[in-house]
Amino acid sequence: MALEFRHVTKRFPTRTGKEVTAVQDVTFTVNQGEFVSVVGPSGCGKSTILSMTAGLYGPTEGEVLVSGERVNGPNPHVGFMLQKDLLLPWRDIVSNVEFGLESRGVDRQARRARAMQELVHCHLEGFEHQYPYQLSGGMRQRAALARTLAIDPEIILLDEPFSALDAQTKLLIQNSFAKVIAEQRKTTLLITHDLAEAVLMSDRILVLSERPGSVIAEIAVDLPHRDEPLRRRTLKEVGDYAAQIFTLLKLEEKAVA
Ligand code: ADP
Ligand code: MG
Repeated sequence: MALEFRHVTKRFPTRTGKEVTAVQDVTFTVNQGEFVSVVGPSGCGKSTILSMTAGLYGPTEGEVLVSGERVNGPNPHVGFMLQKDLLLPWRDIVSNVEFGLESRGVDRQARRARAMQELVHCHLEGFEHQYPYQLSGGMRQRAALARTLAIDPEIILLDEPFSALDAQTKLLIQNSFAKVIAEQRKTTLLITHDLAEAVLMSDRILVLSERPGSVIAEIAVDLPHRDEPLRRRTLKEVGDYAAQIFTLLKLEEKAVA
């Protein structure tokens, strides 16, 4: 199994001296090659789960394991992608994609070859010498994915990577991400507040409660075409899954309140 959370609780100190419990007793696993989404109310600890997986900080209680080993500090086998693409504006696209390889001491030629390979996978061939400002939001996210894949991570962490895109671009980018991720059989954890996105892209969905976040349901999305969300979107069951999560999150009650 690629990723495992065992009874993880995370508390943060606050300025007033009181602690805030971000997540409480969270247990789940993500298998090798699986695509799992995490949904839940804002502030329930979703990003905290990703940060602990990446090893940016550890849990207060419990443990986080990647490939059976306890995460103790920044994890080089994890690729992290956020809503903001964090591309460096003074570097062209290919040099941005090479960035993570530089710090790993990969030599210039190998770096360039590797970066170009991922740019092809992410359909950015021909744009390698453009600068980030010359690309659309969707293309920049594809460049950020290429940069994430270039280091060949075992696990890809995606924190609301599509939330700043317009609706149509979002569908297309979800589709291209899904395809690349499935082809490379990457283990993926996606944080999203878009319930439809979770249904379209995942093998499984973890539904978290309000803060302190804990797993209130685990939904296996038993539908074909995980590698092609645009196609999965045409299946009538998609709406039923989204409605199920909607109910779990008690969104109807909140709508009238
Ligand atoms: P989500 O991503 O689900 O919106 P977060 O994981 O970002 O939620 O945050 C969960 C809770 O933990 C929030 O109350 C937030 O203020 C708190 N929190 C997150 N990171 C830190 C931190 N580094 N220091 C202090 N509090 C934090
Ligand atoms: Mg967050």
